[in-house]
Amino acid sequence: MTEKTERLGLAALKLVYPTRAVCMGCDSQAGFDREWLCDDCRMELAKRWVGAAPPPKDSGIDGAAFAYLYGGPAGGMVRQLKYQGVRRLADPMARAMASALALIQPTGAECVVPVPMHPKRLRQRGFNHAALLAEKLGGLASLPVCEALARVRNTPQQARLSDEERLKNLTGAFALAQPVAGRRLLLVDDVCTTGATAAGCAQALKEGGAAAVYLVCFAAANNGEDRV
Ligand SMILES: [Zn+2]
Repeated sequence: MTEKTERLGLAALKLVYPTRAVCMGCDSQAGFDREWLCDDCRMELAKRWVGAAPPPKDSGIDGAAFAYLYGGPAGGMVRQLKYQGVRRLADPMARAMASALALIQPTGAECVVPVPMHPKRLRQRGFNHAALLAEKLGGLASLPVCEALARVRNTPQQARLSDEERLKNLTGAFALAQPVAGRRLLLVDDVCTTGATAAGCAQALKEGGAAAVYLVCFAAANNGEDRV
């Protein structure tokens, strides 16, 4: 391939995939791959693979799976989805979540439940990233999406709080939006940091009689670093 045709090919790719001109993991000018990552980020991401993991302590969650440890390219992808609105990233992110989920085989899970966003924040951001991930994951796992939870209190953003404040912040923040008695549910979020959000959701679901609550997230940050 001559330099000219190479340049033309690259320009054509940029027309087809304009947002792929920048690596979603590190913002560098990068090549174009299925995961929207440069070679370095793809290798780094592979090192961060988690799969099946112990559920957050005292969370009432019956099984958990995380695709990657948060930080590095995993953090970059989350931020691009959440704050830059690169919604198509939800596809590769959900694929990674489906692979992690396959390792825990949540017994009899009937539907995916996204961690809800308060209506006010939803209006500000325009979409709920957890709902988008849930929809994509549901498609891959052949499970319907069930918006079983509502956020009834608009809590300060978790990212700005200490661990202790996070737990207090979420008390009573979630309520049932649909009956869940006897159902086995798969809770979906982008990141699990202290597990406070997942625990708050699981508590509301279990109080509503859910038979089991599993958790799957794109990233897990168990050391509290690199908060989003
Ligand atoms: Zn990169």
